[in-house]
Amino acid sequence: MKPAPFAYAKAKSIDDAIKLLGQSDARLLAGGQSLMATLNMRLSSPKLLVDINEIDGLSGISVKNGHIEIGALTRHVDAERSADISKCAPLIALAMPHIGHAAIRNRGTLGGSIAFADPAAELPACLLALAGEIEIAGVTGKRSVKADDFFKGLFDTALGPTDVLTRIRITAATKETRVGFAEFARRHGDYAMAGLAASAKANGKGLSDVRLVYFGVGATPIRAKKSEAALANGDIEAAVKALDLDPHDDVQADAATKKHLAGVLLRRVARQLAEARL
Ligand code: FAD
Repeated sequence: MKPAPFAYAKAKSIDDAIKLLGQSDARLLAGGQSLMATLNMRLSSPKLLVDINEIDGLSGISVKNGHIEIGALTRHVDAERSADISKCAPLIALAMPHIGHAAIRNRGTLGGSIAFADPAAELPACLLALAGEIEIAGVTGKRSVKADDFFKGLFDTALGPTDVLTRIRITAATKETRVGFAEFARRHGDYAMAGLAASAKANGKGLSDVRLVYFGVGATPIRAKKSEAALANGDIEAAVKALDLDPHDDVQADAATKKHLAGVLLRRVARQLAEARL
């Protein structure tokens, strides 16, 4: 199918993008890897696409003051190849190869993935597992939203219609950081039937600050808080028993399969959390 007709404008700056978004029914265009599919299938038909690809300073990865900051326009491929991400955000490094295929990672952006908030996407779950923050520019200025408060519902986030997600910020990993990632997809590169992104801190022989975030099993990335507590107590089977996910059937798998996979993922990721990566 072809998209419905739309106008196109290139934003010269973040302020320009915000201004253009003020026009009725406008949408940002980043890598286009999700947006163009929804236009072609006529799931959405905005009147104006605001291209942000030529805005200076929206892409790039930097490490400062114990944090790693990733610009919204950073392509998946650049994150996948970044030594800074491997070192400071190893959970994201583990997740990147699972995002679509190479052609999609060449164009798709981290900001686009977080803003689109597909419930089966890897990066929103990683950002929540890492307790990251999302920086947003809007008509009233800049603000920062914690990942815990960002994902509101199915494809719904704290972004308003004239907001631009400018970058994400994550506390850089230390020697104590532990991460784990696993997903089940029908074929490599497909969206996951169910997936799990996790982080924790090594605390003596055990773990503290455990964050277990499932994707593909609900309307948003979902923390399994009861299982986090059980895992911090060192009891993997209790953590599996404590899972209280309530997935629905979708095109990838039925609810019973997803529930079963959630337990399998937890056992696998719990083993990864026991390993040091730095
Ligand atoms: P776009 O498609 O340009 O935009 C997506 C949405 O986000 C739009 O509504 C747009 O207005 C908004 N947006 C974009 N940037 C911003 C911003 N800076 N501020 C505010 N709003 C913004 N993703 C996965 O996570 N896992 C997968 O397994 C996966 N498989 C895929 C398979 C296929 C065949 C395809 C086509 C895509 C797949 N994707 C997958 C999606 C891919 O990761 C996209 O790159 C990503 O979801 C969106 O990024 P984008 O830059 O292409 O955004």
